[in-house]
Amino acid sequence: MKRRIASHYALINGKLERNAVITVEQDGTILSIEQPEVLDSCASVEFFPGIITAGMINAHCHLELSYLAGAIAEGQGFAGFAREIGRVRGNYSNEERIHAADIADALMWEEGVQAVADIANDALVMDIKRRSKIEYITLFEHFGLNNNSTDAIFALAAEHSANVTPHSTYSVQDRPFREICNRGEGVISIHFLESKAERELYSGGGSLAEWYARMGWECDFLHHGTPAKRIAESVPSDRKTLIVHCVECLPEDVEVIDSHINGGATWVVCPESNRYISGTTPPIKMLRDMGCRIAIGTDSRASARHLSMIENLRLLGDMPLEELLSWATIDGAKALGMEHKLGSIEVGKCPGLVLIEGVDLQNMRLTEESKSRRLL
Ligand SMILES: [Zn+2]
Repeated sequence: MKRRIASHYALINGKLERNAVITVEQDGTILSIEQPEVLDSCASVEFFPGIITAGMINAHCHLELSYLAGAIAEGQGFAGFAREIGRVRGNYSNEERIHAADIADALMWEEGVQAVADIANDALVMDIKRRSKIEYITLFEHFGLNNNSTDAIFALAAEHSANVTPHSTYSVQDRPFREICNRGEGVISIHFLESKAERELYSGGGSLAEWYARMGWECDFLHHGTPAKRIAESVPSDRKTLIVHCVECLPEDVEVIDSHINGGATWVVCPESNRYISGTTPPIKMLRDMGCRIAIGTDSRASARHLSMIENLRLLGDMPLEELLSWATIDGAKALGMEHKLGSIEVGKCPGLVLIEGVDLQNMRLTEESKSRRLL
């Protein structure tokens, strides 16, 4: 049966259009979009107060870490967080891990997430992702300065129809980093400049350099000069590249990467995670002013109170609501190569529909009460 769904506003072509009436087929395919002068005159319309968007795209998550909810205290800084995650990781059974991921997946769906770029270190929660109504792109992450063989991770990815990605520009040696970027296909996702120490490492200083020296680990990639140059000199220009976090990112880093990747990289911000770990915020104004493609990630429950896209948008502060909602929908879909079917309310697409409630519609701002829920 067809449904006619209406709201005060809907995000259509990047604009918040008034009085949108969206007619959908039973399977969710959008048949038509109308904007009558007065909604009252429309027959058999289901009205929902607020803003309707397409299903949202979570461009950075680690579903498998959902069991670490509340396990690591806030505000320990980047190094403290990394140390704590190593310490507590072994304290949980597989059943606990699977159960937590199952709940997090169901909640993300209810809150309107349609697709996720999900980082994984093992295959423990792959079944949940396969069964989920959410569309997952899994990226198995290669990690470790003493881990130069990529055979196991490529085998794991092949077994699960997933991608391989290098963890970051400070935790993977040169050969595996290049190999992963060149051999794989589809999206790669690189944790980038979450802390100053990543840049400092390349000039031989900072807390990462000290830690590596203590452990006797050597890096063979520092000749690139900066994390951004390493990416530009290692990633083929035709790969869809997600650059994640970017907290300490400077305009020259953006220029180096965006001038190399065809059509530019996608700059994924996870403000709740940055706030949780180190009380920092991503340089959203700079990224926006430079015309970057921006997408939104929740990161994991290890560093977030919940996997809420709306909470992450709210933490980005006073940005035009149309842009915030576009980052969470169509720009995320473009980042994952899913824009032909997801990310926007368009005739012929089947993008899911989400209601954003508790919005200050006078000033078009998210409020403390704002939340999202799935309509279909
Ligand atoms: Zn992450």
